[in-house]
Amino acid sequence: MSNTPEQPAATVARLRATFRTGRTKPLEWRTGQLRRLREMLTEQGPELAAALHADLGKSRTEAYRTEIDFTVREIDHTLDRLDDWLRPEPAPVPAHLGADATAWTQYDPLGVVLVIAPWNYPAQLLLSPMVGALAAGNAVVAKPSELAPATSAALARLLPAYLDTDAVAVVEGGVPETTALLAERFDHIFYTGNGAVGRVVMRAAAEHLTPVTLELGGKSPVFVDRDTDLTVVADRLARGKFLNAGQTCVAPDYVLTDPETAAALEPALTAAVEAIYGKDPQASEEYGRIVNERHFDRLTTLLDSGRTVVGGGSDRTAKYIAPTVLADVDPESPVMREEIFGPILPILTVSGLDEAIAFINDRDKPLALYVFSESEDTRNRVADETSSGGLGHGLPLAHLTVSDLPFGGVGESGTGNYHGRYSLETFSHRKAVLNKPLS
Ligand code: NAD
Repeated sequence: MSNTPEQPAATVARLRATFRTGRTKPLEWRTGQLRRLREMLTEQGPELAAALHADLGKSRTEAYRTEIDFTVREIDHTLDRLDDWLRPEPAPVPAHLGADATAWTQYDPLGVVLVIAPWNYPAQLLLSPMVGALAAGNAVVAKPSELAPATSAALARLLPAYLDTDAVAVVEGGVPETTALLAERFDHIFYTGNGAVGRVVMRAAAEHLTPVTLELGGKSPVFVDRDTDLTVVADRLARGKFLNAGQTCVAPDYVLTDPETAAALEPALTAAVEAIYGKDPQASEEYGRIVNERHFDRLTTLLDSGRTVVGGGSDRTAKYIAPTVLADVDPESPVMREEIFGPILPILTVSGLDEAIAFINDRDKPLALYVFSESEDTRNRVADETSSGGLGHGLPLAHLTVSDLPFGGVGESGTGNYHGRYSLETFSHRKAVLNKPLS
């Protein structure tokens, strides 16, 4: 055995050879791989949780809830339904083809697919797309994020121990390794991360006419209507925003509300942060850390973009930034120029719903948009007059836990989607078949 790592071309060729044998196509292989992945998560959950703690200070509860158990649920949802989803779907045939002609669609696996994951939910965002890729009968090259090195190493060790190594390969590394992988021909590339690299991925894919799914980010706004129960709003907002220290692609990025509601929301958010993380969030086991110094430094420059309502403190050695709420924030301030991706929540004031809708529509289409309103008319207006990857009424983040909903962005926040049946669609070709009997 040589210790030289396999070159990307050799990895892809090896997986392609397996795919050509037809081994990954039967339902039994697909469900077998999903069951093995489930076993990996249940047996090795503690090791993955420890790696997530090392990379992001994630508490065990959060690691299980948002990464390990999340993926197990996705597997169970798929295992329960895959047979049904794969059934060919009949299509009505026009009269000119005769009464004996039949037509249907069937799902074909694509071949060898590449899944590239980011660091913020480094297990979930590698494994959950893999659930769809395997369910669809593909061979998979999985590229974890180098910025979550402990989780990357754990997955590189564990996945080959549980899955069919002739059809699944893990390639660790950063830009050079990913660049080398992207030079290869894949049948689909599923990328989660930022839009700048999304463009790199799409350009590389274009060389081979490879289809892509781009799960990107952006600034996800929140609209808080007047006359809502601000204790409930603040609690849900704080939980959604400060989970994983704000490093969540669908985290509420900023709040739009009228001046009176903003004034009342400030103490409610202060109370919510304290109720969730205590007086000193740095001492709370439930509160995470910033992934690295680069992101820490980027985020601390944003802390003086407004008046501090709560938080504002930081500790570079511990990569800790307090859950922070800023008020009186100018739309042109640094914190509003890019996706925050950290524990800073700016509140911006608008005169009301019309201005909030205009504000949202003046900017890139967000990955998620959240509305807190008792008014059905307001909720409907936001739904009808704005465009976003997903829309959450009354509860941030949770729409992505509904496996029967597609999860993905639109415009700058991404292209394509996945979860549940939508993952099967993403990782399959829906083939059109017509059958006209010869006699
Ligand atoms: P990251 O830095 O870990 O990058 C993601 C992946 O791209 C990594 O595997 C990395 O190795 C690879 N990569 C980086 N530079 C590359 C290059 N030049 N060429 C080829 N590959 C390269 O993660 P990130 O981009 O910082 O992730 C944060 C962003 O991802 C945020 O914008 C966030 O909103 C978004 N995000 C989106 C989702 C979603 O589901 N839509 C989920 C999580 C994060």
